[in-house]
Amino acid sequence: MNASELSRFDVAIIGGALMGSSVAYHLLLANPHLSIAIIEPDPDYQFASSARASGGCRVQFTCPENIAMSLYSIDFIKNFDSVMRTVSQPADVGWVEGGYRLLAQHEHIATLERNVRLQREQGCVVELLSPSELKSRFPSMNVSDLGVGAFTPHDGWCNPIHLLWGFRRKVVDMGASYIAAKAVAANSDRTKVQSIVLSDGRVLRADAFVNAAGAWAGEVAALFGMPLPIRPMPRLEHYFTPASPMEKVPYIKEFSRLAFRSEGTGFSGGLVDGNAPRGFNFEVDHGYFDRVVKPAAAHRFPVLQTASCERTWSGLYEQNEFDGNPVIGVWSNGVQNLYTVAGFSGHGMMHAPAAGRAISELILHGVYQSIDLSKLGYQRIHACIPYSELGIV
Ligand SMILES: Cc1cc2nc3c(=O)[nH]c(=O)nc-3n(C[C@H](O)[C@H](O)[C@H](O)COP(=O)(O)OP(=O)(O)OC[C@H]3O[C@@H](n4cnc5c(N)ncnc54)[C@H](O)[C@@H]3O)c2cc1C
Repeated sequence: MNASELSRFDVAIIGGALMGSSVAYHLLLANPHLSIAIIEPDPDYQFASSARASGGCRVQFTCPENIAMSLYSIDFIKNFDSVMRTVSQPADVGWVEGGYRLLAQHEHIATLERNVRLQREQGCVVELLSPSELKSRFPSMNVSDLGVGAFTPHDGWCNPIHLLWGFRRKVVDMGASYIAAKAVAANSDRTKVQSIVLSDGRVLRADAFVNAAGAWAGEVAALFGMPLPIRPMPRLEHYFTPASPMEKVPYIKEFSRLAFRSEGTGFSGGLVDGNAPRGFNFEVDHGYFDRVVKPAAAHRFPVLQTASCERTWSGLYEQNEFDGNPVIGVWSNGVQNLYTVAGFSGHGMMHAPAAGRAISELILHGVYQSIDLSKLGYQRIHACIPYSELGIV
């Protein structure tokens, strides 16, 4: 081994925010003797989506895989402190079981009812509420254009930064090494990736490599010659307060992609612009709240007409342009020791526990042991057969 070479690892994980750290945690939980390197160029997580997320966790999806991942992950997040605390550090993630409420206008009633049937079949608790029931629970809500609302009382939100650091501290405690560098090149032969080259010039060899680079996953895949349709999609989040008092709300979501929840004396949320130009753009459009978010929020809660935006921040969705669902598993038609766990398109924080466990199962056993995520594999992209999630709003 020369000076520019690191010792060999069992697993090298590229991207050390939530997804990469969860992979490392689940690997070490299954086998504490594994040597694991996590490559993370931004150790303060200034740009990672994990540190910019809104914290929402819900079971309201349509793909059985996403519902199953939510059920495992939400339970994991609820019990995070008791499982993830270390001898020296608690791991409180500030879980709030405030519920999710998806509101549907008349044209979406059938869709929402079908989705709820699917969720109930998988054991989720979901209530369907008529407009008058919604009004009696939320007196400030305008229900004039609503057909139905679906409420999942055991959903909620957590502090994503605490979740991220809780994972990282635990993983370090369990023996993994975070390396503050960027993966910039890869050396592969026809069957295997042999090593990656880091931005500081060192070469890192491993038996298995995991691409957990979030919005950067497409770039990282390209280092290996793997086409991966994951692009950075800028997304704004706002903290806003009402001018006059309003009741607390669960995580409210609408088919327009408006989403917000109570936070302190105000609300945290936004309205996703699915057409936002793709790119690593962290600029904040300070007019977006007044132009787009406030009118939509005030339509639902007229008292928000005079809301003021206290803070706006930007982040990146790791958007899978192919079908909006994550890519999880090996590069089916490429080298067999390169795993991908990316492309969650807006729900990666809540699914990090289950997705990390899934990758650990694939690396250690070659097949899924708990939730079968085969349909989320790369082969659907290679075969050009989309598998879309209809519950992302
Ligand atoms: C505003 C906003 C709100 C959101 N709200 C929610 C929500 O309510 N619920 C939810 O579940 N999800 C939410 N999300 C999505 C969620 O944040 C992401 O899906 C999740 O954080 C993805 O985690 P990750 O670890 O894959 O990616 P990231 O957190 O982005 O981490 C990827 C890491 O890879 C590193 N990296 C990049 N290039 C390289 C390289 N070449 N070599 C090594 N490392 C590299 C980066 O430095 C980064 O730290 C939200 C996202 C945004 C932007």
